[in-house]
Amino acid sequence: MNIQTAVLPPHAEMVRAMLASDTVYEGVFFTAVKTTGIFCRPTCTARKPKPENVEFFAHADDCLSAGYRACLRCKPLDAAAIAPDWVQRLLKAVDADPELRWSDAQLLAEGIEPLKLRRWFKQHFGMTFHAWLRTRRLGMALGGIKQGTSIDHAAFDSGYESLSGFRDAFQKSFHITPGRAAHSEPLLFARLTTPLGPMIAMAERRGLVLLEFLDRPALTREVEELQNRYGYVVAPGHNAHLQQIEKELALYFAGKLSEFSVPLHLPGSEFARQVWSELRQIPYGHTSTYGSIAARLGKPGASRAVGLANGHNRLSIVVPCHRVIGADGSLTGYGGGQPRKAFLLRLENAAVQLTQPLAF
Ligand SMILES: [Zn+2]
Repeated sequence: MNIQTAVLPPHAEMVRAMLASDTVYEGVFFTAVKTTGIFCRPTCTARKPKPENVEFFAHADDCLSAGYRACLRCKPLDAAAIAPDWVQRLLKAVDADPELRWSDAQLLAEGIEPLKLRRWFKQHFGMTFHAWLRTRRLGMALGGIKQGTSIDHAAFDSGYESLSGFRDAFQKSFHITPGRAAHSEPLLFARLTTPLGPMIAMAERRGLVLLEFLDRPALTREVEELQNRYGYVVAPGHNAHLQQIEKELALYFAGKLSEFSVPLHLPGSEFARQVWSELRQIPYGHTSTYGSIAARLGKPGASRAVGLANGHNRLSIVVPCHRVIGADGSLTGYGGGQPRKAFLLRLENAAVQLTQPLAF
């Protein structure tokens, strides 16, 4: 048995997800059709095969080694990490000339369909291409302000015709005036690819602050709280903590890492921080309940409050709220969706069983 085959959801659940094209199973499994020799994502829009003709695999590589070819419609080999050629060409062009506004006509001249581009960016960055371009330009302007460029220059460099237009756009994006930004803590974000779909990681100088699935509904609220309550200026970028979490996450998903060592910074209420620190005590491959966490905190009646603090955890996977289950053994809710929670628990369980010596 290897870690790949050990992590599949129950068969009936995969059949249901495939027939329903359920997007939360994207990356959780692949479907390979014995009669056609082709494999797909669970969300493929091609006609659904008969369940009895389908073999399920945890990874696209496994389908290939079993002799299947990738579907031309849902392109299961195009991992989210690898942007398609036309996106890569566009990103290079943006790097070369960050000020260019990219009208629909300019996009079409490059052979890029604006609607397709919009959809790709929404799916992979959670925003439209033009919103991403603006954030990127403002992020560069912010970098300039932090390095001592005057606000007038930053406005000019980021392509704004008037200083007030720049201030407005800046304030709208970062919820802070450029003048104040020079004195606040930048919170840099990067997008990470995982087998369970794209995640966003945010880190400041002291450590990792947020790690969430991009499609988590609470993400916007969490980011707004970080901006408005904790005064962060959010901008795209990279630092050592973001590089470290990217490496550690890849090892975690390969079943080769059970404890994260990336430094964390967790702004929050006293109680929430106590709960998060208890969550970090639940060992890899094990589960706990709200009730027993409340008891460990010396507040046996507070399991509801523990549940709430658990839901406000911004550091998915690293602060392992997925290891908390119902007192009756049921999975209970998960911010990133229950199939992901089940996947993480199966992954950890399989890795623990593989490393434990045989019992006599
Ligand atoms: Zn397909």
